[in-house]
Amino acid sequence: MTLKLYNTLARKKVLFVPANPSQVGIYVCGVTVWDATHLGHARSAITFDLVVRVLRARGMRVTYVRNFTDVDDKIIARATQENVEWHEIAQRYMAEYREGLALLGNVVPEEEPCASDHIGEMIAMIEQLISKDMAYVSQGDVFFAVRKFSGYGKLSGKKIEELEVGARIEANASKRDPLDFALWKAVKPGEPSWESPWGPGRPGWHIECSAMALKYLEQPIDIHGGGCDVMFPHHENEIAQAEGATGQPFVSVWLHNGSLTVDAEKMSKSLGNYFRLTEALQRFDAEVLRYYLLALHYRSPLDFTEVGIADAGKALTRFYEATARLGAATVGAFPAAPPKDRPKAAKPVIQRLLTLRDDVLAALADDLNTPQLNGIIFDVVRELNRYLNTGTCDGPAHGWIQMAWSHTRNMLHDILGFYGSDPAVFRERMGQRQLAASGVNRDEVEQLLAQRASARAAKDFGTADSIRDQLTAMGVTFQDRPDGTTDWQMT
Ligand SMILES: [Zn+2]
Repeated sequence: MTLKLYNTLARKKVLFVPANPSQVGIYVCGVTVWDATHLGHARSAITFDLVVRVLRARGMRVTYVRNFTDVDDKIIARATQENVEWHEIAQRYMAEYREGLALLGNVVPEEEPCASDHIGEMIAMIEQLISKDMAYVSQGDVFFAVRKFSGYGKLSGKKIEELEVGARIEANASKRDPLDFALWKAVKPGEPSWESPWGPGRPGWHIECSAMALKYLEQPIDIHGGGCDVMFPHHENEIAQAEGATGQPFVSVWLHNGSLTVDAEKMSKSLGNYFRLTEALQRFDAEVLRYYLLALHYRSPLDFTEVGIADAGKALTRFYEATARLGAATVGAFPAAPPKDRPKAAKPVIQRLLTLRDDVLAALADDLNTPQLNGIIFDVVRELNRYLNTGTCDGPAHGWIQMAWSHTRNMLHDILGFYGSDPAVFRERMGQRQLAASGVNRDEVEQLLAQRASARAAKDFGTADSIRDQLTAMGVTFQDRPDGTTDWQMT
């Protein structure tokens, strides 16, 4: 089964053929660590986490590199404002990013290079560009001469003439052309700086990714990814720098994930719709959040809404309820074929389970079509419920269904990072959240249930009924079990 990915550079889906199938390289632009991680960062990281997992599920060995931009104007400004060292700011937000992504179940990249550790590599690339007359030194700054790179604009589709119209004449008199961008910035008072052949200073933003990508991965890099917001100018400039310096193609496939808005607005602190990831993880279940962020196709713009996340919770609940009803799986190897004796009621679900793995991989092989994949899964869930409702669930066919579903869940969890919870644990987690959201106190509910049990034992049905009404008014539903205990949940 061939893997197709939408290559931004080619503007179409292309067959993914790594240069070396036993060692695939992927470089993803991470974050500038000057502020908190927000949902947009999480969406991008989860998208490329899925890419890496899909490649691995297809048997490829992957080197995943994702950078941290830790030298930047905003970091320096924040450090000055808080009167701390710039690297304290960087470390703080790096830690927050890593923690949040771990809670969302993301794999850790093989390399997480920081710009500040790669100044030497950047200087070397800038020197190469100067020697090829693609960059020039001016008053301690170094600029990339955009017009010297004939392929400029090939990723974003922008033409030099359009850019000329858009370019403002900046106050920076040291630039020869307003289109040129900084590779190296001469030191300013109070700012961190490094020694260079052009005097002390610090790198411009774009050069770090060209230099670090080529340090850790073979050229051409199989996949380079990032959010659609960094496609221009950042990725365009990365191509100009890397290809300008080496004369070779930089990247084979460029992947960009869609934007994230909240309630149809761009997330911003001033609008009050800014979702810090740590806050989102307090408010929503991490697995539900991950499901939600992957439910839509990665290239589509995602509008984050409370309704959307509630629907994601309902979908996962449906999945886990069916799993719970099916019962525990038998441990052991996946049975290649179900038993010959197949009750009629079990046939449709067996049929679907037999092709499920291929169907899932086929959906993912079509440019990571997660909506189609979830459609396939919920089709099986419906079939599963239909079968369970027949009440004919025993015998070898049932055992096979249990085992096949258990193996399917493991596979889905490996590739998607969700669908792998124990159903009882998932129900407990969701119950806790509902309880917290409803403001109902767990101890109070337990106490009322105990009082009701004693009233019933004493045949005081009047009191038992009034307690039942009280609980119903609180939004609690419950069921008396034959063993005398009571199962309850919030409605
Ligand atoms: Zn980058």
